Amino acid sequence: EATPEPPWLAGLNPEQRRAVETLDGPVLVLSGAGTGKTRVLTTRIAHILHQRRAQPWRVLAVTFTNRAAREMRERLAGMIGPVAESVWLGTFHALSLRILRRHAALAGLRDGFSILDADDQLRLLKQLMADAGLDAKKDPPKAIMGRIQRWKDRGLTPDRVPEEDRRGTGAQRAAMLYTRYQARLLELNACDFGDLLLHTLGIFQAHPEVAAEYQRRFDYILVDEYQDTNVAQYLWLRLLAAGHRNLCCVGDDDQSIYSWRGAEVGNILRFEQDYPGSAVIRLERNYRSTTAILGAASGLIRHNADRLGKDLIAAGAAAADPDAPPVKVRGLWDGEAEARWVVEEIEALSHEGLPAAGTAILVRAAFLMRAFEERLMTCGVPYQVVGGPRFYERLEIRDALAYLRLVAQPDDDLAFERIVNTPKRGLGEASLQSLQVMARKAGMPLLAAARDLADSDELTKRARKALAGFVADVERWRALVGGMPPAELCATILEESGYAAMWKADKSPEAPGRVENLEELVGAVTEFETLDAFLEHIALVMETESKGAAAGVTLMTLHGAKGLEFDVVFLPGWEEDVFPHKRALEEGGQASLEEERRLAYVGLTRARKRAFVSFAANRRIFNNWQAAMPSRFVDELPDDCVEKTSDTGLYGAVTAGFAEEMGGWGTRHPRRSMTGGQGGAGGGARVAPGTGSWKVRDRTGDGLDITVGQRVFHQKFGYGRVLSSEGGKLAVDFEKAGVKTVVAGFVEAV
Ligand code: ATP
Ligand code: MG
Repeated sequence: EATPEPPWLAGLNPEQRRAVETLDGPVLVLSGAGTGKTRVLTTRIAHILHQRRAQPWRVLAVTFTNRAAREMRERLAGMIGPVAESVWLGTFHALSLRILRRHAALAGLRDGFSILDADDQLRLLKQLMADAGLDAKKDPPKAIMGRIQRWKDRGLTPDRVPEEDRRGTGAQRAAMLYTRYQARLLELNACDFGDLLLHTLGIFQAHPEVAAEYQRRFDYILVDEYQDTNVAQYLWLRLLAAGHRNLCCVGDDDQSIYSWRGAEVGNILRFEQDYPGSAVIRLERNYRSTTAILGAASGLIRHNADRLGKDLIAAGAAAADPDAPPVKVRGLWDGEAEARWVVEEIEALSHEGLPAAGTAILVRAAFLMRAFEERLMTCGVPYQVVGGPRFYERLEIRDALAYLRLVAQPDDDLAFERIVNTPKRGLGEASLQSLQVMARKAGMPLLAAARDLADSDELTKRARKALAGFVADVERWRALVGGMPPAELCATILEESGYAAMWKADKSPEAPGRVENLEELVGAVTEFETLDAFLEHIALVMETESKGAAAGVTLMTLHGAKGLEFDVVFLPGWEEDVFPHKRALEEGGQASLEEERRLAYVGLTRARKRAFVSFAANRRIFNNWQAAMPSRFVDELPDDCVEKTSDTGLYGAVTAGFAEEMGGWGTRHPRRSMTGGQGGAGGGARVAPGTGSWKVRDRTGDGLDITVGQRVFHQKFGYGRVLSSEGGKLAVDFEKAGVKTVVAGFVEAV
């Protein structure tokens, strides 16, 4: 019979439509940014439900972040109404947790197990190291935790860590600690983030009847951002899809940016082998960005050798705009000047009908955010920080959460330790030590041990009294769970414990902010019906999310921006060692550099209408001023898509390639070349309006000629004499600092 065609199909192009309508068997959509992969995935769910191929609770859809899941659910509800609620839609972690809650016992956990965050994990590990007599200075706990997490990413439980991973004493110790860490977690009735997946995977592997139940349960499985799945996630999906193989994955190898977290781009490249007979669909039309933005991004990513290579055509409304400007590239004196410039541009754009709410500033590393935060605050431009130093990671919030966790889960020893003497209750180090020892010996949780100890003569009278008071408090709060809305309970605990009072009495400059944050926390709890639901939510959002609705400028890291889109995107900090990141350059070789470039590609392709790239000549990195070189990525942007201007004197931070194009530095009169289009040995300068030429903004007309032997001044290094020049960079013998390589644009002739 003929069902009338639903409206959501009409808007799709033929390839997208095929991806939506090919319902049976494995489907891979492999294509570039903004081609509608996520849209296809959402529409596909709607189509499955509309065609009555499956009940909503028999569809499993995996997104990369909680935020992406929320957006997808909203779009889905817009298409098919409230049944969207019943679809199993979420991140790998959230979905795994849902499954794990039902089968906790099979993983050795009890109901109501808690989920540790990064801080607790580290604390636990440090304890285990202390117990084993290991020196945290020789074996940094963070590094060991990193190894443990990579093993988990690969789906490896302690007993499965392969021989080659145990070579060397450091690796051996890490493997040993991994075993103890997992054992201790079970004792605590807790798991960490990686365990959510690992335990579920273990249950599926050890209990085929459970795996079969879920294979039957989900008729259709859909996965977004497939290029960033790790091995554990890959195995998880394989297991679930093994029966019907109705698996649809979408992704883009050019946007694989999480290898440092164990993601393997090989998963997407291997899809056709893994799922023989799969339909592979490529989308080529980009509906997001202007031609210039897309051209800049494509030109940049072309510098990667290791890629499938795809061509994108700008096809959306943004591409049709004849006034769409090129990508603006701007060099500035330092980070503060960069922030001033960015915020000025944001204010100007808001007068052109591009308000702050559609604008994002995407940074390579969180520390770069501060300058922008301050400038935005100064100018009264609203903004929110997404990711980065997150709300739920703040000290006072973590303490408050520990109270809530202990009340929800009296066995949560990590929570107990965190707050038993915060605020100070007169418990000394020695008393806490005795408590630890006794609890260990008796094999009981700290809270229970505290109850016993408070009745004994083991401790000083003062300590006993303090412990008894604390235990009584926790028990009183526990009795309130269920009988009182969780937000009220939270407020009560913060009051009665004296924790809120502690910050109110604190004279430090950050104390008032902490009090506000605690109030904010109580507000956040209001949205939940039970304490457990809230804590579960927190455990999940801690990983990727932050607070707040999009009211102003969005400030976030490039990694967090994957899959999102904004009208206007600012990409600051494009300097060597910042972006590409120093660590990537030093440690990872070509592969890391290419991942950095993909990150730049992700950044540019977030923009619909305008994109701005900037770099500073001087950057303060953790209290050190450093002279910075423009990123090689600046140079790799194709000239016909960008407009470069600079504030930093001369040609600003003219990058190596551009300088070469002008016939080399030091021997020519560059400004003449710039404006006169005079050809040099290396070919003429391009001066097409609005394209790759550097417009010299300001500064004096002094110092335009920089030749070998010339005396120059540099902001950081002072006076010196030029020894040689190559590709826009000068070797200068500074009077105080010695020989340094600096960017020609950053010195002044004197
Ligand atoms: P990314 O790789 O960045 O995750 P994507 O491939 O998932 O991108 P989407 O986010 O699904 O792309 O789509 C990009 C934009 O293009 C969205 O605003 C989407 O609504 C729009 N879009 C997608 N397909 C079409 C279409 N056929 N017609 C009009 N707009 C479309
Ligand atoms: Mg997407």
